[in-house]
Amino acid sequence: MRIILLGAPGSGKGTQAKLLVERYKVPQVSTGDLLRAAVKAGTALGKQAKAAMDAGQLVSDDVVLGMIEERLTQPDAKSGFILDGFPRNIPQAQELDAKLAWLGRPLQIALLVAVDNDILIKRLTGRRTCSSCGQMYNIHFATPKIQGRCDKCGGSLMQRSDDNESTIRKRLEVYESETAPLVAYYKAQGKLRRVHGMDEVDEIFSHICDMVDAEIRPLQVKGVEAQPVVAAVTSPTATAKTAKKKKKKATKTTKKKPKKAAKKKAKKKAAKKKAAKKKVTKKKATKKKAAKKKKVKKKATRKKAVKKKKTKKKVKKKAKKKVAKKKKTKKKATKKKAAKKKKVKKKKAKKKKRR
Ligand SMILES: [Zn+2]
Repeated sequence: MRIILLGAPGSGKGTQAKLLVERYKVPQVSTGDLLRAAVKAGTALGKQAKAAMDAGQLVSDDVVLGMIEERLTQPDAKSGFILDGFPRNIPQAQELDAKLAWLGRPLQIALLVAVDNDILIKRLTGRRTCSSCGQMYNIHFATPKIQGRCDKCGGSLMQRSDDNESTIRKRLEVYESETAPLVAYYKAQGKLRRVHGMDEVDEIFSHICDMVDAEIRPLQVKGVEAQPVVAAVTSPTATAKTAKKKKKKATKTTKKKPKKAAKKKAKKKAAKKKAAKKKVTKKKATKKKAAKKKKVKKKATRKKAVKKKKTKKKVKKKAKKKVAKKKKTKKKATKKKAAKKKKVKKKKAKKKKRR
């Protein structure tokens, strides 16, 4: 039995969860409890959660999902679980689906305990607790014999500060905005079941059990309930025979189901494989593309570099030429000057000789 519970604060889903735990011997997995326990125990995930909480942040979905996975692999969750408090939005629901599929334990039912808003408000605002013994009352539904006094011990009844109407209305609004999309999500999967949460607790519970027995454990129930009916109308020997036959039939059908399930599983596996392959091919293609892009880019850069180098060389050459020219001109000039000087000297010398 793999169930997730949906229901507003005050819907009574907690009460139903406890009853389910008792009857079907599966644990209630509440993410709030898991978080507290993990932090207290100081597990790796608990430390991550604590770090987030200490920093005033929300604990990430990965951490919560990790805790859920750890919890579901414990032996007492072998035959199922009742998940409570997670998911709170569509992305979380998708992640949870993926995780449970990976664990080979998909959800079977999303159970919504539906209660009208005005009743929720009455239930929540009417809550009173005995200040000395802790007994709970409700001034609308479970009234004490003497107003404001505990039936058991005579202590005074108190209202929790966050049970006032405006706070409660806000909480219900948040719940509504979170849950409405989830209800649609599970409805689309064909997994949503709704129970009328305004009936008596026992009545609600028997509705839930009928549903669970019919949908999740139909074979066990048929096997048990079919026999007494037959016994009432036929002779004892005939009954035994029919019972035997029935049993045979029952075992036959039980055998058949796993086959079907196995087939389904195999199909799913194949689909998963295909998807994985597709992913790989896609990844490869993207990689190739990226590599090509890189190559082209590299080439371009190289070309550019070469061009740059060439231009640089050219510039250098030009500069060299310029310098050479300058040098030449300078040399010429100096030569000319020297020649002139020599000439002048010669002339002077000639003049001296003549004298
Ligand atoms: Zn009391």
